[in-house]
Amino acid sequence: LFLTFEGIDGSGKSTQCRLLADHLRRSGREVVLTREPGGSPGAEEIRRLVLEGDPDRWSAETELLLFTAARRDHLERTILPALRAGKVVVCDRFADSTRMYQGLSRGDLRTTVDRLHSLMIGRDPDLTVLIDMDPATGLARAKGRQGSEERFEDFGLDLQEKMRAGFLSLAEEFADRFRVIDGNRPVDDVAAEVAATVAAALSA
Ligand code: C5P
Repeated sequence: LFLTFEGIDGSGKSTQCRLLADHLRRSGREVVLTREPGGSPGAEEIRRLVLEGDPDRWSAETELLLFTAARRDHLERTILPALRAGKVVVCDRFADSTRMYQGLSRGDLRTTVDRLHSLMIGRDPDLTVLIDMDPATGLARAKGRQGSEERFEDFGLDLQEKMRAGFLSLAEEFADRFRVIDGNRPVDDVAAEVAATVAAALSA
């Protein structure tokens, strides 16, 4: 089973990924917890190329190609081998983040993103959890951990709202695999709903 988490910066995705992985392991499943950009040695190198240093180093198009190369490596080296071995893969961001960041916020490249995806990736998650978060809260949280080497998109509230709306419309577009969970609640409440949602998918 291939599970991905999506959401705006500061939505709590990474925490929820970790809690879900712990929960699934306690119930006896083998889990690979991974993330994008990154998730394999080559893809982590590409992550550094893109997210550290001058944010204007790459054009939106080049950045899309780099993210796609990273995803291809991650898929080949980490995701597909784990799925073949019968493990559950829990991934913090995947192609839907590219549809949003490279496709919507950094460039108007959605058509190209989708074409590259079908050409070079061609694997969609079985289930995608969208942690829906109030844009102002998400922005405040993401700002609170600024200061790392990595780029953080200080979108400002307008863009953060646009990203939230974009993710919600993506959830409608791919309604068969998306589940939207309200992230504006205590962490444990969100985690319980994530676990129930995934359990329902596992038994379906
Ligand atoms: O999920 P994480 O906090 O590690 O993401 C770090 C940053 O990577 C995000 O703030 C976003 O700016 C960027 N990103 C991106 N395109 C993607 C995925 C992430 O620009 N496809």
